[in-house]
Amino acid sequence: MGIFNSIISRSSDKRTMPPHESHLDILVVGAGLSGLATAISCAMSGHTVVVLEQAKELAEVGAGLQITPNASRLFSHWKLPEKLWKDAAEPTSLTVHRYTGEILAHEASFDQNIRAKYSAPFIDLHRVDLQQALYARAQELGVTFHLDERVDSIDFDTTTVTTLKGKPLSGDLIVGADGLWSRCRECFYGKKDDPIPTGDLAYRIVLTADQISDPELRAWVENPTVHFWIGPGAHAVGYSLRGGKMLNIVLLVPDDLPPGVSRQAGSVEEMMRLFVGWDPILTKFLTYVNGVDKWRLMHHSEMQSWINDKSNLVFIGDACHPMLPYLAQGANSSLEDGAVLGSLLSHLKRKSDLPHILRLYEKMRKSRGEAIVRETFKQRNDFHMPDGPEQQKRDQVFLSQLGKDLKGAFPSRWTCPEVQPWLYGYDAIKEVEKVVGQNPELLFGKSARL
Ligand SMILES: Cc1cc2nc3c(=O)[nH]c(=O)nc-3n(C[C@H](O)[C@H](O)[C@H](O)COP(=O)(O)OP(=O)(O)OC[C@H]3O[C@@H](n4cnc5c(N)ncnc54)[C@H](O)[C@@H]3O)c2cc1C
Repeated sequence: MGIFNSIISRSSDKRTMPPHESHLDILVVGAGLSGLATAISCAMSGHTVVVLEQAKELAEVGAGLQITPNASRLFSHWKLPEKLWKDAAEPTSLTVHRYTGEILAHEASFDQNIRAKYSAPFIDLHRVDLQQALYARAQELGVTFHLDERVDSIDFDTTTVTTLKGKPLSGDLIVGADGLWSRCRECFYGKKDDPIPTGDLAYRIVLTADQISDPELRAWVENPTVHFWIGPGAHAVGYSLRGGKMLNIVLLVPDDLPPGVSRQAGSVEEMMRLFVGWDPILTKFLTYVNGVDKWRLMHHSEMQSWINDKSNLVFIGDACHPMLPYLAQGANSSLEDGAVLGSLLSHLKRKSDLPHILRLYEKMRKSRGEAIVRETFKQRNDFHMPDGPEQQKRDQVFLSQLGKDLKGAFPSRWTCPEVQPWLYGYDAIKEVEKVVGQNPELLFGKSARL
């Protein structure tokens, strides 16, 4: 008997059992970081979770990911495997350079400062390490995975997804966690909905410490720090992974990919030409690159709603708020989404309250997710200024505070005293507790509407 038949027969078994009014069968479409986070969070709340993933195996892009305290605090809550922390690199400083190398901003003891302010660390991880940790925890919690199954259509009347192979799966709630090219989003709109280019693309590079013979550069890799180089129309980010055994570099430059292409092999020579005249440290690192891909950075306009009118489809992650990676919040905010949705669903007392809970989720998440998207575009403006009077004014703001405690709005939101607490200080679990406190019907199970 195939996996789907077994699920279908299990769900028909359920019909003979007494109905569990507070228990949901949740179908998560996509096993990216947002889908895995949602699966864990919903399973921890006692619901049955099935994840459908189009890929044959879970193999995230082999590159790095900056995880900020708003998400790292969730790893403890979800009890992710200890190994994840061992695989992390915790940067001890964060530096912003002008593209030529001059230091514009520098925060020493960044690791200690972040832990003191937010009670959770800022860590840099290999994507695969995070994906495998989430996957292992989800399996431990009893989540069922169906890999190599691409969801093609949704019947909203019966809460059924059908995969390209023609297999139907039904539940109480569908979570659209299928990323930028979301099929769930298209089913929701009833039309094709391709993402829109942002005008930028990324070169993603991972180097191992063993590859690097230059002792000065090797020391950079082995002592985890974060560096940004900001220049006209472009910027670069570098940070260590795996406790200093690897270096991740992302180069963000104007998009020159042909129409309709979202990823293409790039040429190392072309990439090097774009960075002529930049900080010699950065360009020396680039001489170690053997091959590189170009990734078009795309986004979507804001959705009117993240839930459908039947309250059986809800969106999370890049499917509803894709953003520029310029604040490293795409995955972090997707993990927040998953945590909020799952925690709210732990308060479900009867299925008829699901629309109310989903509305609370949307209220808590949509304005924040979309505000973060807007902030990433503002960061692009501040980082990519062409040389000239505006850039000189910006650099004045940077340099006037170099070596001092930062005050007021700051051109790098990574350490800005106004933006950083808003991003990193968010505690999804506490936010849910707050909202539950304001909606006592969730505690006592009275049906209510927003
Ligand atoms: C260069 C770059 C650097 C970045 N750096 C950071 C960073 O440092 N920190 C950070 O927080 N974020 C970062 N991001 C953003 C982050 O990678 C994304 O926001 C995040 O991975 C989105 O996760 P997701 O699960 O929503 O979507 P995805 O990762 O796209 O996952 C969607 C999943 O759904 C599956 N799927 C799609 N369609 C279907 C279907 N029809 N049926 C079944 N399965 C389907 C896909 O195969 C995929 O596994 C970066 C992004 C880029 C481009």
